[in-house]
Amino acid sequence: QKVEWAVLKNEATVSADGQAVEIGANIGTPKDIAGVLDNGGEAIGLYRTEFLYMGRDQFPTEDEQVEAYAAVLKGMQGKPTVVRTLDIGGDKELSYLDLPKELNPFLGLRAIRLCLEMPDMFRTQLRALLRASVHGNLKIMFPMIATLDEFREAKALLLEEKAKLQAEGAEVSESIEVGIMVEIPSTAVMADTFAKEVDFFSIGTNDLIQYTMAADRMNESVSYLYQPFNPAILRLVKMVIDASHLEGKWTGMCGEMAGDEIAIPILLGLGLDEFSMSASSILKARSQISKLSKAEMAQHTDRILALSNSQEVEDYVTKLSAK
Ligand code: PEP
Ligand code: MG
Repeated sequence: QKVEWAVLKNEATVSADGQAVEIGANIGTPKDIAGVLDNGGEAIGLYRTEFLYMGRDQFPTEDEQVEAYAAVLKGMQGKPTVVRTLDIGGDKELSYLDLPKELNPFLGLRAIRLCLEMPDMFRTQLRALLRASVHGNLKIMFPMIATLDEFREAKALLLEEKAKLQAEGAEVSESIEVGIMVEIPSTAVMADTFAKEVDFFSIGTNDLIQYTMAADRMNESVSYLYQPFNPAILRLVKMVIDASHLEGKWTGMCGEMAGDEIAIPILLGLGLDEFSMSASSILKARSQISKLSKAEMAQHTDRILALSNSQEVEDYVTKLSAK
């Protein structure tokens, strides 16, 4: 099997009926790029920049950040590279950032909420991204967006920093797409409205499942509720993909679900444009997609979304795949 996958390394990802999708990788540091290219990654679908801020005793400087972002963009040689702005809080803490203890950290001041609360810190990251943008195909993504106002506020800060940099004579790419993670149900439900203003969506199922099912993704005692195949999740995913396509935008997925063998046929049928996963899963997923007909899977989606629970969905797809 490994041999069969290896020949796909330099191939595009195309379904059995000739429909192209993109498989990207999730990374945490510039060092991960080698593994992405080695495994035939067509893109970076998620660069989690928080690791740049972790394991140290002060914020990374603007120049340090430029270096890391430029390294990733250069390493990807012009391939699409989605960089997510800082997603700290929740389960991820910074020793040098003394945040008040919260009763429900996952529902608290994290990610974009914290960045908008600490605009100086956020502006530094945005400037570093803009300065690095000339080195590749940068797409900027904001995490944990719950309302359109948050997106507008974040994007306004980005445009302000861009104007400042240009006034200083710095070069900034003019083709940076600006998108959001869809990992909060309110945003999935309002996707049609968001789609008019964002350039793309990336569905973060790790959080979307926890918030939709109200089940902490780290809590073993409620892990039975952590159900990627619950039709509630699939219906939200469909809403997001359909909304983006109506506005001529694209939707990716960067949660664990994107690399799941049972999820892939469903997501292909729903019209997902980009699958982002750990590098080691890419070739297997490309091979699986090459054997699936997107049109045929699309014919099953209405029936799959009308099923009544997670188990029925899994059984349905397993039976299809066995044919
Ligand atoms: C997600 O929530 O699905 C996601 C990709 O982000 P993280 O796992 O970093 O929260
Ligand atoms: Mg998340």
